Amino acid sequence: MTQVHALNMSEADWKNWCVAAGAKAFLGTQIMEWMTRKGCLDPLQFSNVSQSLRSKLAEEFAWHVPNIDTLLESGDGSEKILLKTHDNLFTECVLMPSENRVTLCVSSQVGCRMACTFCQTGKMGLTRDLTRGEIIAQIIIANRRLLEKGDARRVTNIVFMGMGEPLDNFDEVVAACSIMLDERFFGLSKHRVTVSTSGLVPAIEKLGQLLPVSLAISLHSADEEQRSSMMPVNKKHSLAELKQALLSYPVQTRHGITFEYVMINGVNDSIQHAKKLVKFLHGLKAKVNLIPMNPHPGTEMVATDPERMREFQKYLADRSIPAPVRYSRGQDVSAACGQLASKRRTELNLAPRAVALARRREWLAKKSESSSSCE
Ligand code: SAH
Ligand code: SF4
Repeated sequence: MTQVHALNMSEADWKNWCVAAGAKAFLGTQIMEWMTRKGCLDPLQFSNVSQSLRSKLAEEFAWHVPNIDTLLESGDGSEKILLKTHDNLFTECVLMPSENRVTLCVSSQVGCRMACTFCQTGKMGLTRDLTRGEIIAQIIIANRRLLEKGDARRVTNIVFMGMGEPLDNFDEVVAACSIMLDERFFGLSKHRVTVSTSGLVPAIEKLGQLLPVSLAISLHSADEEQRSSMMPVNKKHSLAELKQALLSYPVQTRHGITFEYVMINGVNDSIQHAKKLVKFLHGLKAKVNLIPMNPHPGTEMVATDPERMREFQKYLADRSIPAPVRYSRGQDVSAACGQLASKRRTELNLAPRAVALARRREWLAKKSESSSSCE
């Protein structure tokens, strides 16, 4: 029988399990605290749980976290953590400590099916969703890394900007975010958990009603036709539809909604494009992050030159739209979206498409067999 992974159990599941095992329901909350706040995934060490229950926990559930396959420390202090899942897939997170915060960029899927033309993850296609446990495990692993490095802090900020489209894995991402925000578990502030999406409009609306998290939109162009050619999602959910959803999104941060705008040389970086962007943002409280395109093998797209970037930025700033230029941290170690996992896969000489498809078939088959198993 496939074991359920302990990190995929909700607080309610744990309470029910405890009661069925003859223990008090509140112990379920304490088990969650051990795993999240204390980062302990060895049930034999749960000192406030009886010996017999500890053994039962160890026997009945899976407790492993993804292995760290590769750790790459960047010159800018960030660290790319390439993880290998129990079914031998690669995913990644990036730990970015700075003076007043520790940000972790997490993945929500292995690959992504949104197929944005400028994105390396998009080229991989979707292999499978990560479970809520695999998302949460990234924080546990990052907190352990901080400890190992002698940094007494814990992760304070989460951005869903690693591999995958978080809103395409809605239930697992929402469940993971609830644990992040719960003050008894990771206790992160709602201003400090940011879900980044390419624009799955119905899911944005649902998210706004369910959870107080910050929202980032990967916009990249405010021209309908051009955005559809760069981001296929726009053919299904147009800019006009996206804007409607954003106008009613319950904004959590002072600066409103963050827009990511990858600056691609000669593609979306003219003053005409800036004008369209200003028009799109009218009526929204917005900040725009200008991200120089991170080149990767298989694309001719390159970053806009700094001078042109400054002009674009000034055009926005003159119209009261803050638009900092954000260089992806850890570029020297391929920290940008999906780059390390794709690179590692090439090094391993796997046949990417065939492997991805086989894994996807297995995942779909298992998903239909059981919805609560971690495997
Ligand atoms: N799928 C989600 C979150 C992951 S992508 C989304 O698209 O929002 C995280 C960010 O990296 C997005 O803003 C994405 O557009 C950006 N990105 C993708 N490829 C990039 C590249 N080659 N250079 C710079 N940023 C890139
Ligand atoms: Fe997926 Fe985001 Fe990359 Fe688009 S930019 S392919 S949505 S990960």
